[in-house]
Amino acid sequence: MRLCATCVLPENFPNIKFDKEGNCNYCNSFKGEEKLKEDKAAYFEKFKELIKKLRGKGDYDCTLSYSGGKDSSYTLYILREVFNLKVLVLTFDNGFVSEQTWKNIAALTENLQADSMVFKPNFSILKKIFRYAVNQPMYSPKTLERASTICTSCIGLVKFIFLRIAIEKRIPMMAWGWSPGQAPIRSSIMKINPALFKVTQDAIKKPMGKIVGEAINPYFLSDAQFADEAVFPYNISPLAFMDYDENKILEKLHQLGWRSPKDVDTNSTNCLLNSFANQIHIDRYNFHPYAFEIAEMVRTGVMSRKEGLEKISEPGNDATIKFARQRLEI
Ligand SMILES: [Zn+2]
Repeated sequence: MRLCATCVLPENFPNIKFDKEGNCNYCNSFKGEEKLKEDKAAYFEKFKELIKKLRGKGDYDCTLSYSGGKDSSYTLYILREVFNLKVLVLTFDNGFVSEQTWKNIAALTENLQADSMVFKPNFSILKKIFRYAVNQPMYSPKTLERASTICTSCIGLVKFIFLRIAIEKRIPMMAWGWSPGQAPIRSSIMKINPALFKVTQDAIKKPMGKIVGEAINPYFLSDAQFADEAVFPYNISPLAFMDYDENKILEKLHQLGWRSPKDVDTNSTNCLLNSFANQIHIDRYNFHPYAFEIAEMVRTGVMSRKEGLEKISEPGNDATIKFARQRLEI
């Protein structure tokens, strides 16, 4: 299979175009590392200004959507130690969180002194959605460029369950641990627009509602909540504008008591469903669901092309794939 000469995107990636030198359209529109550095500095200042405006206005300054993985663990460190924010840590339990991940969540929230909540939807509902997602696409074709259908389901629930908590608790910022490949810098600090988010909610809630009916309602915003624009928080992705060096991140996390789970694959440091979800996506579309994210990290110099290629060609973890199949009865 032909790959971009600069990043790791393959020729069968949706809507990709290569130039004469073999570089893809995404690499050709990248403005270079110097420009990225300037943008990062500007967004870092922008975040400091926003904190000045919002700090201390409620019981918490921000939520953190916390999977217990490496990136969101490091984001918790940044929020607490670099910006000294009062954080409410929110963890979504999809029924596939590894044991080591629970230990990591306990260690980091204790060592960084944050309150923590776990939201675990009724597993029979999740199971119906995951089983459906195994067999067919549920969302717009565009979502398939960024993640497997199973991952998109989890992230969709996480986005709206936690947004609802933030609105109900009047928390003015929601932080996310998106890696620099997942969150473009231009959207790393953004006040949530209710009208746009209503469209996003419909795109996820409607297909889920077809599978599980009204049981889906508690996980999304009500029409009344959408009507009050003032209570909508800012979405913040600090890793998009902070320095991101995987080795330094792991070193810092180790000091804080975080340990790498042994039972997950190289692209997820927390989820036991990930390998299975990736495998289904690769079998169906013939490219890795993390290819876009990893291509962006290669392009922006976060990792080398060789490291990126290793990440998207590493086979899934057989034991966790078997575990996922059993738990979903597939
Ligand atoms: Zn490329």
